[in-house]
Amino acid sequence: MAEIKAATTMEKIVSLAKRRGFIFQSSEIYGGLNSCWDYGPLGVELKNNVKQAWRRKVIQERDDMVGLDASILMHPRVWEASGHIAGFSDPLVDCKSCKQRFRADHITGDKCPDCGGELTESRQFNLMFKTFMGPVEDNAAVVYLRPETAQGIFVNFDNVLTSTRLKLPFGIAQIGKSFRNEITPGNFTFRTREFEQMEIEYFVKPGTDETIHQEWLKQRFQWYIDLGITSERLRLREHAPDELAHYAKGCYDIEYYFPMGWSELEGIANRTDFDLKRHMEYSGQRLDYFDQETNEHYVPYVIEPSAGADRGTLAFLLDAYFEEPDKDEIRVVLKLHRALAPYKAAILPLSKKEPLVNTAKEIEKELRRYWMVDYDDSKAIGRRYRRQDEIGTPYCVTVDFQSIEDQAVTVRDRDTMAQERIPIAELTKYLWEKLAW
Ligand code: ATP
Repeated sequence: MAEIKAATTMEKIVSLAKRRGFIFQSSEIYGGLNSCWDYGPLGVELKNNVKQAWRRKVIQERDDMVGLDASILMHPRVWEASGHIAGFSDPLVDCKSCKQRFRADHITGDKCPDCGGELTESRQFNLMFKTFMGPVEDNAAVVYLRPETAQGIFVNFDNVLTSTRLKLPFGIAQIGKSFRNEITPGNFTFRTREFEQMEIEYFVKPGTDETIHQEWLKQRFQWYIDLGITSERLRLREHAPDELAHYAKGCYDIEYYFPMGWSELEGIANRTDFDLKRHMEYSGQRLDYFDQETNEHYVPYVIEPSAGADRGTLAFLLDAYFEEPDKDEIRVVLKLHRALAPYKAAILPLSKKEPLVNTAKEIEKELRRYWMVDYDDSKAIGRRYRRQDEIGTPYCVTVDFQSIEDQAVTVRDRDTMAQERIPIAELTKYLWEKLAW
């Protein structure tokens, strides 16, 4: 098998992300807050596009899926029922010399990977962030920041069922922030303590779960490929029995070949009827399903494709990064899928003066009705193309002196650098066709 290479280094992406406004260190002017990141003007567009592409695939294009946006703070009993209070922990070891902390299951050997010092015995560390609700900071007021969005879906199972006409199998999809007090965050936005998840709970009749699990694996894998991830850098890995979470009957990870090696992008688990049954037990409410065809009540099984919006965004950024020779220089280009590119087009007038500016501004106004676009009239045109290449803009629209006479513009394609003359009156339609996905 040919050796797999990472698309680029993390350093190059961190530097591009800061330079061009994709991702900044949180609270940077105060020295930063470890493992927290802020999405800048371009990053917020990119990540929103990732989330939008996910929503379109798993909600809009299906008749058996609906959305939900549950609150981050939930009743503390939720986390008792889900097993998170008792069991959502990682094994932690401390280095006795340099005081660094590590996840015991992330290191090999019994010495500190940083300084070679002696390590403490491992102990369990609960990853949930605690806070207090209301003015009194006592035990009765403890609430948790959710460590996964999934539980918001389970506790709303009956609400969704009774307020819609859905029949099994059907699913609920949700995007939202989750929080985990990770022992060793790192690798840029790969592992952070605050992150966004894109989760689906797909409810099925017991017995059909294994087939439907396989279908979701294929669908979710294909989503990354369709949005441009190089297939050699994507793989499916089945969990070994000792890796499985307490609730899972089977689990696969979709992994991407990040600069630090194969790492999880998305987990797709068969959670069985564990969660609904536990919530029935802890809340005393019925969370079962009445099957009109067979006249029976049962608790559905659940297939859970659970993806990270930040990890996905990072993988898309890494995979899109190219450095290509261009004359005597190197062209940095982000070959982001058109669905994901922060700006779909940039309008570049060759002069800052009338009458070009008038025409360019009119074009900008028209295109802004449909897409996020950029307008750039500073410096040489070659440099402006480079700037757009580096942020992944698929099309540059150049307005030149000829445009005033022939009412046409030059459209340059980011990937091929080919240029085409297009009548201004047809530009919107042209871009619609090019940008469709
Ligand atoms: P890991 O083994 O990497 O800690 P996990 O198996 O605990 O991850 P899940 O609980 O399956 O992760 O969460 C589903 C998805 O949420 C992951 O595939 C990942 O994309 C995302 N995710 C989980 N933890 C983090 C984190 N600390 N930072 C960023 N994304 C995360």
